[in-house]
Formats: sequence, structure tokens, C-alpha cells
Amino acid sequence: MIEMQGIGKVFETQDFQTHALRNINISIEQGEFVSISGPSGCGKSTLLSIMGLLEPASTGRYWLAGQSVDNLTFDQAAALRNLHIGFIFQSFNLVDAMSVFDNVALPLRYRVPKLSAQESQQRVMLCLEKVGLSHRVQHLPGQLSGGQQQRVAIARALVTQPSILLVDEATGNLDSKSGDAVMGLIGELHQQGTTICMVTHDPRYADMASRQVKLFDGELLGCGYTAPKAEINM
Ligand code: ADP
Ligand code: ADP
Repeated sequence: MIEMQGIGKVFETQDFQTHALRNINISIEQGEFVSISGPSGCGKSTLLSIMGLLEPASTGRYWLAGQSVDNLTFDQAAALRNLHIGFIFQSFNLVDAMSVFDNVALPLRYRVPKLSAQESQQRVMLCLEKVGLSHRVQHLPGQLSGGQQQRVAIARALVTQPSILLVDEATGNLDSKSGDAVMGLIGELHQQGTTICMVTHDPRYADMASRQVKLFDGELLGCGYTAPKAEINM
């Protein structure tokens, strides 16, 4: 699903260069659940942004779902991103003035425009059922708890049926109980077959992954080992 060879990223600022990533080699198979952890500033978010085609690498080669992405134009990268990638961030980025239903339906408008209204509605409801919020369809985000808002954001990420879900500190803004619930849901999605790559600094959540990858100063330590899956009780 994801294949990176020798990926590096250099940020040029006025006076100096930051080597955010060096010689990253990683492949993620369909159905895997990979966690990426490491200290603050080690390059986790940068790696996820490159995986998600939000920004290009400086060096190296990257294949997403079998397609080389190294020489894509901005628009081609966006199209491939829309086809394959679902993002979940620390901030929920919901539209406050829109209902839960409309928030989840939003990506379908521009990412999957050919769906009929009925198909769209079915997909949105299916995703809201998956995250346990089909009884909150007409609520506004402000009427929900933080944990519920993150679950709406997860439904919105799932509605385009992405090949891989990229998760960046999904529980960063949540209390531990809501964080556990969100992580329990992500674990369930993995068991249902979703491919997941997740950045976290919480070792308990990293333990839920089928493979743990550690970043340090922009470099991968080992290629990750296959750990027994830990369960987080919801
Ligand atoms: P992490 O997610 O592990 O905290 P990041 O990927 O955000 O780390 O950052 C890795 C390094 O790259 C840091 O030194 C950070 O300051 C630098 N960096 C990240 N984004 C930029 C940017 N847009 N411009 C300049 N430096 C950046
Ligand atoms: P969950 O565990 O599913 O995230 P909570 O137990 O936090 O949900 O919330 C229970 C109920 O309280 C929900 O129906 C939610 O709508 C309501 N609620 C929680 N937090 C807020 C809030 N900040 N503003 C409005 N309603 C809230």
C-alpha cells in the first residue's frame, strides 16, 4: 500500500536547513496497523504529511497503492490523495455551522461527485453507525463532546472509503476516557480491514498496532517489529 525508499526531507529556512527526515525506508501492507512514535520534533508529522501527499519529499522514492508519486503535479497529487487517503488529526476540523450529517457528507461532494444522493446518504449513515453516532445526525459539532466530535471526524475520513487511514495524535485534545474510546474505535476499524498508519507518543496506544516503528532525529530505528495486539477497553 505504501512503499518508501530513501525518503528524506529538508526544510530550508533563511539561514539554515533542517533535516527533518533522513533515508526513510518503510513499506506498509494492506490491512496493517503501524504506529510511529518518537520524541517531539523527530519528524513524525512530516513523515505522515509525505505519506498523505500533503507535501513532497526532498529525496527518495515513494509508491502509493502501486503508483509512483515522485513526479506528480500538485493537482495529480491531490487527486491521488482524494482517492486513497483518509486523515484524522488532533484537531477535529469540523464545520461548526453544519450538522454532523453534513460534515460527514462534505468530502463526497468534491471527492466522489458521481454518487447519487441516495448512495451518499447511505454511505454517510453507514459511517456514522460505525462510529456509534447515528443518533446524533442533526446535532451541530458544538453540541457534542470532544470524543464525539473526533468520532464525527473519523466518520468523515471513512466516507470516501480510503485505502489507508493516516492518524496524527488523534487523542491529543481528548481526556483519557474519550481518548481510549477513540482508540478503541480505531482498533475496531483495523479489525474490519482498514489499513492504518498512526502517529502517537502514547506507548499504550502504540501497543495496539500490529507493528511499531520508532523515529529518532529523522531516522527510523529498525523497520518495526510485529507485536502482539493489545486491546484497549472502550
Ligand atoms: P514531530 O511530528 O515528530 O514532532 P515534525 O515532523 O513536526 O516532528 O518536525 C520535524 C522537524 O522538522 C522539526 O525540527 C521541525 O522544527 C522541522 N519542521 C517541520 N515542519 C517544518 C516547516 N514547515 N518548516 C521548517 N521546519 C519544519
Ligand atoms: P462520549 O463518551 O460518547 O464522547 P460523553 O459521555 O462525553 O460522550 O457525553 C455524553 C452526552 O453529553 C452526549 O450526549 C453529549 O452530546 C453531551 N455532551 C458532552 N459534552 C458536551 C459539551 N461540551 N457540550 C454539549 N454537550 C455535551
